Amino acid sequence: MHKILDGIYTIQGLRVGRVYVIQSTDGLTLIDTSVEGAEHGIARDLAHKGYTLKDIRRILITHAHPDHVGALAALVRASSAQVYAHALETPIIRGEKSVTYAPNYRDTAFTRLFSALLGIRGMPSAQVDRIIAEGDSLPEVLPDLQVIEVPGHTYGQVAFYSPARKLLFCGDAVVRFGGRLSLPLAAFTSDMAQAKRSIKKLAALDVETLCFGHGAPITHGASAPLRAFANDL
Ligand SMILES: [Zn+2]
Repeated sequence: MHKILDGIYTIQGLRVGRVYVIQSTDGLTLIDTSVEGAEHGIARDLAHKGYTLKDIRRILITHAHPDHVGALAALVRASSAQVYAHALETPIIRGEKSVTYAPNYRDTAFTRLFSALLGIRGMPSAQVDRIIAEGDSLPEVLPDLQVIEVPGHTYGQVAFYSPARKLLFCGDAVVRFGGRLSLPLAAFTSDMAQAKRSIKKLAALDVETLCFGHGAPITHGASAPLRAFANDL
């Protein structure tokens, strides 16, 4: 595990998608799970710090895309963790509704190749134990952790923010490719205008450390590049 801040880590060695690990008082909290099959790599990396999958108490989901919830079912089976997700993402996680991408999304040779290259496989359905929404606080995870709704990439995407630590987990609201902030990929985004409004919402926060769903975290002074990016949208 790579340390980002005291008690905050990211799993290393995953092919696509970030998994963050928070040392909560009663055990570990994960944010997102990467793709189906990633549970093996997560277990291996947790073991470097002396943890097993059974130490996972809860899993927070930013949004129901296969590179974020693919390993969820397997992790829940191995840990009996509680799963937290937004009401609009929950039916997708439970397998009651199909995944949402762009309104004009078509399963094409390109998108299939793209997914295959990234190691994106299935999305086995999983339970959700707690529905989260804007303004909810999650003190069991971190004393001041808040839920912030950032719809657009998906309709029920959420971010998680600790004002005291100026720490933001933004899901795929903004991504970081090659060190540069980017919009999420259009083919996989439900409403780009709404996605841009959500980025402006995040830019109003005081953020030092910004943890993306894709790309390496920014560990110092994240508000400056985030505001510059939001201003150009
Ligand atoms: Zn996504």
